[in-house]
Amino acid sequence: MTSPLVRFAPSPTGYLHIGNARPALFNWLFARRHDGRFLLRYDDTDIARSKPEFAAAIAEDLGWLGIVPDRVIKQSDRLSIYDSAAERLRQAGRLYPCYETADELDRRRKRQLARGLPPIYDRAALKLTAEQKLALEAEGRRPHWRFLLEAREVAWGDLVRGASHVDCASLSDPVLVREDGSYLYTLPSVVDDIETGVTHVIRGEDHVTNTAVQAQIFEALGASLPAFGHHNLLTTASGEGLSKRLGHLSLRGLRESGVEALAVAALATMVGTSDAVRPVSSLDELAGLVELAHVSRA
Ligand code: GLU
Repeated sequence: MTSPLVRFAPSPTGYLHIGNARPALFNWLFARRHDGRFLLRYDDTDIARSKPEFAAAIAEDLGWLGIVPDRVIKQSDRLSIYDSAAERLRQAGRLYPCYETADELDRRRKRQLARGLPPIYDRAALKLTAEQKLALEAEGRRPHWRFLLEAREVAWGDLVRGASHVDCASLSDPVLVREDGSYLYTLPSVVDDIETGVTHVIRGEDHVTNTAVQAQIFEALGASLPAFGHHNLLTTASGEGLSKRLGHLSLRGLRESGVEALAVAALATMVGTSDAVRPVSSLDELAGLVELAHVSRA
């Protein structure tokens, strides 16, 4: 394998917990094992919730685990790159303006469900004429922008889950740009993965559907796809997801209670795999033990 570049892309909206340490470590250990590099990317396009204090705390908590990134970037510095990618998608007819309010969309979804139809966006906005769009804008409406999905199956060989596929015909065209011009996560992530040369995207299985959508965006931007791997998520004993807000098993809390970083790293990466959790004496030893293909499929 040519030298891989992986990334860990947290939103700086809270402290890292042991469930967030999982993708951070899977990426870091993968880079370590294959002589690759690790990029830390702050996904901070949600200006209201992202805080520099959390970004600093994330770097510190990663450092405690032994993760020192080769490069650090933040999305809020890169908005003009996303603007030009969005413009290319518009020119290609893959990004189209929509004027529905959240309420209108909600009512439409309820009608579809009542008729037994899947609640997929009906693409009504694609049928608007130039005059109708002007009239809506004259009413004071500003568009949000959706990506036009091709109704086809996207398939990939997942580093964890093996042969995987998602039928994009069953998905709504995703909103990439909000009414105020700000970006949701989907497009900036793809643009950065292309622009920084990410070779392997290793992340939680809550992103499987995103992968199909993002694969179409990679292609629409003329880029080849990185490899993808989706690991299972750590949950509480009762099966709920861990939450930054609830402060579940935060890395700082564990550190303050005297737990060793290596013990956290071993637990965060070996639980939920076919290998037994065992103590290790270094991250390098852990890098030799952790195999993405041994992570259990949910
Ligand atoms: N900011 C995203 C998250 O925290 C990153 C997902 C990804 O790795 O693409 O879920």
